[in-house]
Amino acid sequence: MTDTQKPRILIIYTGGTIGMVETPNGLQPFDFSHLMDNVPKIGNLGYDIQSVQFPQPIDSSNMNPTYWNQIVKDIADRYDDFDGFVILHGTDTMAYTASALAFMLRNLRKPVVITGSQLPIGDTREDGTENLISALQVAAARDENGDPMIQEVVISFQDYIVRGCRSTKFTSTGFHAFKSFNYPNLGTIDLHIDYAKPYLMRHDTKLPLDPFYSMDPNILVLWLYPGITPDVVKSQLATPGIKAVVLRTFGAGNAPTEQWFLDALTDAVSKGLIIYNVTQCLNGGDEQKRYYTGDMLSKAGVITGYDITVEAAVTKLMYLLGSGLTTDQIKDYLTTSIVGEITVD
Ligand code: ASP
Repeated sequence: MTDTQKPRILIIYTGGTIGMVETPNGLQPFDFSHLMDNVPKIGNLGYDIQSVQFPQPIDSSNMNPTYWNQIVKDIADRYDDFDGFVILHGTDTMAYTASALAFMLRNLRKPVVITGSQLPIGDTREDGTENLISALQVAAARDENGDPMIQEVVISFQDYIVRGCRSTKFTSTGFHAFKSFNYPNLGTIDLHIDYAKPYLMRHDTKLPLDPFYSMDPNILVLWLYPGITPDVVKSQLATPGIKAVVLRTFGAGNAPTEQWFLDALTDAVSKGLIIYNVTQCLNGGDEQKRYYTGDMLSKAGVITGYDITVEAAVTKLMYLLGSGLTTDQIKDYLTTSIVGEITVD
């Protein structure tokens, strides 16, 4: 983009509350023109904005890898024609989509900004207009070299811009719905939009976008709780077809040391299951070596997830499992930061 060119932004409308209307059966997604009709002031930005929408906009509770492929294709097909991409998405699974896209849009060098709202844009009191306009401005922002300010997938919502693969929806009622608990915010949306430059993703190389379309969803999330029984653990680990387990552990990555439990994990690992340790705590992460209870997991062959979010853990496993790697290669990647999703010490 030259100084005189208008920023070219593609909006991808997938659905979500931002574009919903009230029906006798509750809020339901509506079409994009309805949404744009309600935000005429977008024209004041002076951008060249085009849009595509899902044929049938969805509530994001229905999000899945097929829809992720659709979003990736929408971006890949038009990657050279636009300076940035804004995805309008329901908040419920936004953090999963943000994480998935971070892995799937390999070699991304342009802004992919995801936003939505907690109240529909047509409502009298709503947060969608501001979120949409801020997201467009974030997608159009340039740094002092004229390069895109954002060169990764982010969520821009209410007051903050957060790295997509670090994000979590933490409130179902508050306007400020997303947080990055383990990585600094990438920007603050106040009177001005300020970017936290030291934390933004920067790349040494300029490789062509390499879209990925083969997420493998054969994952189990096993949430531990005091009193969990052998039957519950063993039956879940025996789920047909699963290749990897996200084990939601306590505190700094701890789990029971009862023999039946450790045997169940050791047995699952010996049969080829990958078990990824992700703490139930939102802030902080695994230190599998800190306590005896965590160390026993290492001995059973469980891989530490450090400070990864569950959303990033699930989608990282889908990505790695779909990449045709060996189990050992996958385990190596699990303890490596691919797109800034974990802090490896
Ligand atoms: N159920 C809605 C969705 O995720 C919630 C929202 O958009 O805020 O699509």
